[in-house]
Amino acid sequence: MRKILIVGAGQAGLQLALGLQSHGYDVTVMSNRTADEIRGGRVMSTQCMFHTALQHERDTEINFWESQAPRIQGLGVSVAAPDSSRAVNWLGHLDGYAQSVDQRVKMAGWMETFAQRGGQLVIHGAAVSDLDFFARRYDLVLVAAGKGELGSMFERDPARSPHETPQRALAVAYVHGMGPRPEHPETEAVRCNLVPGVGELFVMPTFTTSGRADILFWEGIPGGPLDAFQGVKDPQEHLATSLELLERYLPWEYARATQVELTDAGGTLAGRYAPTVRKPVGRLPGGGAVLGVADVVVANDPITGQGSNSASKCAATYLAAILERGDEPFDEEWMQGAFARYWATAQHVTKWTNAMLAPPPEHVLQLLGAGNELQAVADRFANGFDDPSDFEEWFFEPEKAAAYLERVSG
Ligand SMILES: Cc1cc2nc3c(=O)[nH]c(=O)nc-3n(C[C@H](O)[C@H](O)[C@H](O)COP(=O)(O)OP(=O)(O)OC[C@H]3O[C@@H](n4cnc5c(N)ncnc54)[C@H](O)[C@@H]3O)c2cc1C
Repeated sequence: MRKILIVGAGQAGLQLALGLQSHGYDVTVMSNRTADEIRGGRVMSTQCMFHTALQHERDTEINFWESQAPRIQGLGVSVAAPDSSRAVNWLGHLDGYAQSVDQRVKMAGWMETFAQRGGQLVIHGAAVSDLDFFARRYDLVLVAAGKGELGSMFERDPARSPHETPQRALAVAYVHGMGPRPEHPETEAVRCNLVPGVGELFVMPTFTTSGRADILFWEGIPGGPLDAFQGVKDPQEHLATSLELLERYLPWEYARATQVELTDAGGTLAGRYAPTVRKPVGRLPGGGAVLGVADVVVANDPITGQGSNSASKCAATYLAAILERGDEPFDEEWMQGAFARYWATAQHVTKWTNAMLAPPPEHVLQLLGAGNELQAVADRFANGFDDPSDFEEWFFEPEKAAAYLERVSG
């Protein structure tokens, strides 16, 4: 039986571990936190996942919260005008629903399932020296430690990483008591609110430790008025700051939020990181090689809500590559090939995400504005969150955008 070590118990590490386990591999997962510490800790993400990524979970039969989590049928965009009215306001319909299951619920549950099914779960924050030791004892070592320090053993790929500094200051609050959206009270949706030159606010339903909740997620341009959460330690102060910003910049969202309260003391998160693509193979001091997974190798800004989706796709791609390898060695050439298969998908996510971080060019403003009248444009944008490669066909280049708009208007 082939022995595989996965360092990091997040979306990618655990999905891959549970997948390999179901195929009879001898899998060890190393996590720096216990399931209870994760469940009782701080929120980590907003983790909205779209159809393709959710299907990978269904295929692995680990979609344990699918019936409890809100089914997100739509994705809307609003753009604030200078007078705080809405210059753009539409709802696109998703072909397959999206869901957000609080990673505290999901990762804790998946860890317990992995252990119950006979997997080796080791609670230990791995260092490079540990990997050096384990690389000699396992057929394959995968590093799925997210944006943790172990990532620095993988070389940054400057050609694929246009940014050296964080492009947004992130601030998340999980709340109960958010009112429905008056325009579509029956439709669960992610709402992207754009405040030009200032940043974005995403609002989305989730399933958390205390049941259904909503998330208020600010992406502020660093140094600007939304970059207001640094040093805020008290969760109530975080929520108060979030509501003040809502009232000032997005009164239509504030109107839904007047009754909200935090889900729990761990329901807030603030931080920032530089989006980074890394080389996939990490070399150990003793000569061994390890393969980077998901955020370790491709960490985009969460402005497009893709990281968990990409982690799921990466886990599914690596699972297929491992199974296909049979009894052959997991050498460096195989590792490069496995990552190349993942990059075929991830490159589109990276290109689109970096485009969304920049001020929108004229043709993108036109496309977003067209969603007000043309439902087809709204729907196509929404479904691009599931398959960002589609943006190549109509979004990036002014000529393709104009040709597309002409087609759908006709
Ligand atoms: C504010 C915010 C909002 C987001 N919103 C979305 C969204 O709506 N949709 C979406 O798809 N993505 C979103 N993301 C991104 C998404 O959360 C991540 O991309 C995704 O969780 C990455 O999965 P992963 O498995 O690579 O890493 P992680 O989920 O980060 O898991 C890594 C695990 O490894 C552990 N670890 C770290 N170092 C070590 C070590 N040395 N030894 C052992 N264990 C270690 C960590 O504790 C963690 O449990 C968001 C991210 C942020 C920050």
